[in-house]
Parts: sequence; structure tokens; C-alpha cells
Amino acid sequence: MNLATKLEQVKGVGPKTAAQLRSVGLETVGDLLAFLPRKHEDFTNVAPIVELKPGNVTIRARCEKINTRPVRRGLRLTTAVLADDSGKLNAVWFNQPYRTQQLGASDEYFFFSGVFEYNYGRYQLTNPSAELAKELPVQAERLLPVYRQLHGLKSQTVRKIIEQLRPLMSVLPETLPPSVVAHEALMSRADAISAMHFPRRAGDVVRARERLAFEELFQLILASQLNKIENQKLQGYQITFEPDVVRQFVSQLPFALTNSQRRAAWDILQDFEHATPMNRLLQGDVGSGKTVVAGIAARQAASAGYQTTLMAPTEILAAQHAETLRVLLSPFGVTVGLLVGSVKGAARAALYAQIANGDVDVVVGTHALFQDKVVFHNLGFVIIDEQHRFGVEQRQRLLGKSGVLPHLLAMTATPIPRSLALTVYGELDVSVLNELPGGRKPIKTSLVSPPSRDKIYQRVERELQAGRQAYIICGLIRDNPENDRKSVEAEYKKLKNSVFGHRTIGLLHGKMKPDEKDRVMRDFKDKKYDILVSTTVVEVGVDVPNATIMMIEDAEQFGLSQLHQLRGRVGRGKHQSYCYLMMSTNNKPSERLREIEKSNDGFYLAEVDMRLRGPGEIYGRMQHGALNLQIATLADTKLIARAQKAAQAFIASGDNLADYPDLAREVRRNQRLTTLN
Ligand code: ADP
Ligand code: MG
Repeated sequence: MNLATKLEQVKGVGPKTAAQLRSVGLETVGDLLAFLPRKHEDFTNVAPIVELKPGNVTIRARCEKINTRPVRRGLRLTTAVLADDSGKLNAVWFNQPYRTQQLGASDEYFFFSGVFEYNYGRYQLTNPSAELAKELPVQAERLLPVYRQLHGLKSQTVRKIIEQLRPLMSVLPETLPPSVVAHEALMSRADAISAMHFPRRAGDVVRARERLAFEELFQLILASQLNKIENQKLQGYQITFEPDVVRQFVSQLPFALTNSQRRAAWDILQDFEHATPMNRLLQGDVGSGKTVVAGIAARQAASAGYQTTLMAPTEILAAQHAETLRVLLSPFGVTVGLLVGSVKGAARAALYAQIANGDVDVVVGTHALFQDKVVFHNLGFVIIDEQHRFGVEQRQRLLGKSGVLPHLLAMTATPIPRSLALTVYGELDVSVLNELPGGRKPIKTSLVSPPSRDKIYQRVERELQAGRQAYIICGLIRDNPENDRKSVEAEYKKLKNSVFGHRTIGLLHGKMKPDEKDRVMRDFKDKKYDILVSTTVVEVGVDVPNATIMMIEDAEQFGLSQLHQLRGRVGRGKHQSYCYLMMSTNNKPSERLREIEKSNDGFYLAEVDMRLRGPGEIYGRMQHGALNLQIATLADTKLIARAQKAAQAFIASGDNLADYPDLAREVRRNQRLTTLN
């Protein structure tokens, strides 16, 4: 038996189990050893029932009585009596009816991860996990690895097979360069994987996780540093800075640039002068004025004879950008075109022709820009708004429309915490707009408990009477029997038939057709509605300065960054704006919500969110889909800093990546994931 041995050849693995393993991508012995436990349960503190103290507890007990009943819509309650030699205890599970079948009367179980608490007038154990005591490893190692349950594959099954493979642990190869392992004083890979599957002490797991997490981060950061080096070898268009052109453009703006806008524009204009293509991220909170910065750069590019394209995630945003840029650029003879799905027929054909012969200098659009029919005359500058919404391939297709690689500016209002910027975006240069244009009043944010709802409706009414407009945000499109969250369809109806019967109300959600959505947004902008009841589709970029008040229903359900983005839809004009975070219960608000009540700073809130919820929640798609971090988290800033230093040292050492084939394979894979071009 070796690492390449197929799992079906391992003793005790039947055809059915082998098929199950294969269906989750585990084919060989090596695959299974690399399938690491999701967590470890600590059985070192099994307590007799009579001695339990409130908090997280583990007990060893029998289940004397159990039954499940529906309590209300969407809630089934399972209650049980658990007993050991010292006493009895009530246990409850919410929506886990399978416990009734799982827990037979005569067997002993370990119950763990449950909370022992005082609730409804008595002590009970809430939502414990359960493992059949006799199925636990014989020699009770007390720290029990728990594996992800995939497609019905039980943690128990995985544990048994891995037990068979134990002798192979010692032959697991080292995958990091030995110099790195030594310098960082890391566990060997063989020891780390062995400790994850067969931990003796909690300390083993900590050190094993450190080693494995370090390796993941090292691979990721090395990839982005290598990308940066490769980018610097690419040939781009050199665009010479023309002070008079830029000065003239800036002087006709109806406002003075903020210092950070000035700095960001300068960064870009300097990048333009280099022979290598720009690869820059422009981060700025909502309302910080990114579009103007892009406009300055587009002006300079046009003056040098290059076309610019700006890609936005939605038609309405594209139209908004086109309008803004047209106002800014047309006085200088720079022409702006808008290419979106709704431009059809002859108009579209004409636009294609103008793009191809260079009559249009700046082409703003949506995904429509990707189509093969779009051929540029001389594309020198690509701007992508809210770039995290686009996949790597889409970006590449756009960049491929130029002979030489054009300059790239990605703009985002999502504040990216430093640790994430170092890993995922390490190859990008970053400019930050960290101040709001003058004259803006900070939005006043308040948490609101259910009894104060009517008072808030009165405040909304007062704003409407003053000629302003309001947003009301709900998480759901329609009511869902599984939970009590508010939906836009139900709220829309309710408000129309009650407090706001005398007002015009618009309805907006993501299941509507794109042109319908655009119409509603435009109508709101044109003041045809006083109130817009919407899901989070209004999150990004929409600019209605007259909207000054927002209610966010079930505020507890949203992430901090998302609440902040939503809130940014108000406070965009000269009037004082308000945001009310409506709580669905009278419970004490969480630390998270109190933070957003206190702060208007998106970067600060992103850091808090990352600390409180972990980056997986915030950057979920990216973390699990693309980054594929199993052990490391982006919240571990200390380890990230170490990995960054180590990656730099590795590159500086002149050591050849190809000498470490396992590392090289992972680094190449990551290079494709994180690169922007
Ligand atoms: P975002 O960064 O959210 O994309 P925008 O570019 O849409 O911000 O700008 C928001 C609003 O602020 C726009 O109406 C824009 O004209 C205005 N604006 C931009 N820069 C300034 C400035 N320096 N002073 C005053 N208003 C500005
Ligand atoms: Mg914007």
C-alpha cells in the first residue's frame, strides 16, 4: 500500500463506501490523508450530569425518552431525557427530527458541543451532537477528529478507514522547501497531518494547524508575488502625462478634488507613464468620488489617442457612469458611448462601427462589451467598476481586446481589509479614497427595537413631506414559511394598505427582469415614487441624492459590510440623511450592530466584520470557491505577515520553484486564480 493506492483496495472499504468517497473526490489513499478534520471534539472533560455547569459541556449518557413535534410554522422541536449514573437531564434540538431515529434507548452516547443553559424555567442541554460511545476509537484519545459530512459519508466511516492507514503517515512527503520549514520552525508535513488525524494533546492540533495554514498562505502569497513580477515584464502602452490637459480638465469640475482623489489620480497618471501595464485597484467608500478619478485618467488617455472602456455590473450603473462621463468629457471633445443589452438593431451596429473606427473615445457598458463583435480601434485603458463581481475569465476577455495589454483600473466600494489585500490582491497596486467630498453630512444611524416602529414611520413621513425619498430594505422577495423575516412583496402590500396608503411606492427585487428593474430605479430617481421597497439589489452604486432616509428590516440578518453598503444609498446629497436598523426582536443588539451605529467608516467596519464573523462569511464565495483555503483563515494576520516575509525571502534566495513540484503545482494554480490579466 502506498499513497497512490486506490481506496477500494484498503481493508474494510467496500464498493459502496469507495463509491461514496469517489463522489466527493477522494480516490486514493493520499487523497484521504489530505482530507483533514473540520474540527476536533474534546472529550477530556466528560462530566457527570449532576455536576454540569452552564456553558459548553460533554456528557456520556443514555437517551431514555425522545420525541419530535411541530411547534409552529417552520419549527420542529425534539425533546429527550438523557441519563447517566448520576442523574437526568432534558435535552432539546431545533429542527433536527432525525435525532429520534439516531438515538436508540439501550446505547450509550457522547453528547458534546451542546449548550447547558437555563431556559423556559429549567436547565436544559440545547442542540448537542451525539456519537455512539462504543464506536469511538478504542484507545480513547480523547480528542476526536470530526470530518465534514459529504453526501452521507459519515465522520465515523472516515475515521475507521484512516485508522487503517496510520502506518503510512511516516511516508508523507514534505511539500514546503526545507529552508522555509527550518526558518519558521514548523512541524513537518507528515507530523502535522498525523497530528490532525490522531491528536494526542490539544497542543498538537494547534501546531499542526499552524503548519498547514502557513503552507496554504505561503502558496497563495507566493503566487501573487510571482504574478506581480511577471506583470512587470509585460509590455504596455506608455501614456505621457500632459499637465495642461489634466489641469484644464480638473479646473472645469464643479467642485474641488479631495486630497485623496488628487493622490489617486496622480498614482494612475504615473502608472500610465510606465512601459508596463498598470494593474491598480481603486478602493473608496460609497460616495467617495471614484468616477471622477476614472474620468481624469480617461481624459489623459484620450488626449494620447487611446480609447477607454468602463465596464459596470448592471445596465443602470453603466448608464449612470456614461451620463457622468459625458458631462465631464464632452466639453473637451471626448466622446462617450453606451453599450448595453437594450441598445439594439441599427443603433447597435452603428455603435460597433464607431468603436471600431475610433469615433467613440470612451465606451461604457455591461457584459455586452465582451462580445466578439466589439472590436476596438485602439484600446489603451480598461476600467472595471465593482470588479469583484466579475470572474477572472471575463476580465481576461476584455483585456484580450487590445493588441498590447491595456492599463487596468479596478474600482471597488467594498473595503478590503489589509490581510486580504496582501494575499489575494498582493499583485495589485492600491489607491484609496479615504475621505468623503466636503459638505456631506455623516449619516445618522440608529438601532430600532420593535416597539418604536411607528415612530420611525412618522420620521419617514416627515422626510417625505420635506420632499425627500425613502428606501425600505427587506432580505427576502416573498414570505418564506421557514422563517419570520420580512419580504419586499409583503411589506409593499402592507405599507400600501396602511401607513403609506397616501404615498407612491415602488417595488424592486432581483427576480425582476433587467429592464423592469431599470425602469423602477429610473422612476425612483425621477421622483415618481416616494418610497422604494427593495431587496439588497440596490446595494451597489445607485445614486439618488434626494433619498435621505432608509429603514433596513431584520437588520440582524445582514453582515456589517453589507449594511454599510446599503446605508451608502442615502447620504449622497447635501441633506442630512438617516438610516434605521430595524431589529426583529427586543433582544439586546449584538456588538456588530452597535459598531455600525457608531461608525460610518467602511474600512473600520470591514475589519470589525472580519474579526467578529471571520472572512469566510464576508468573502465566502471567494474563500471557498477560489482560494480553497482549508485550514488558514484570512483573519490570521500574524500568520499572513509571516508567510509574506517567507515568500519574499524565497524569491530573493533565487531558489528554483520547479525544484519543489508539489509547491509549484499549487502556486501555478493560485497564480491563475488571483491574476487580473
Ligand atoms: P463612488 O465612489 O461611490 O462611485 P461617485 O463617483 O458616484 O462615488 O461620486 C458620488 C457623488 O459625489 C457624485 O455625485 C459626484 O459628482 C460627487 N463628487 C465627486 N467628487 C467630489 C468632490 N471632490 N466634491 C464634491 N462632490 C464630489
Ligand atoms: Mg460608483
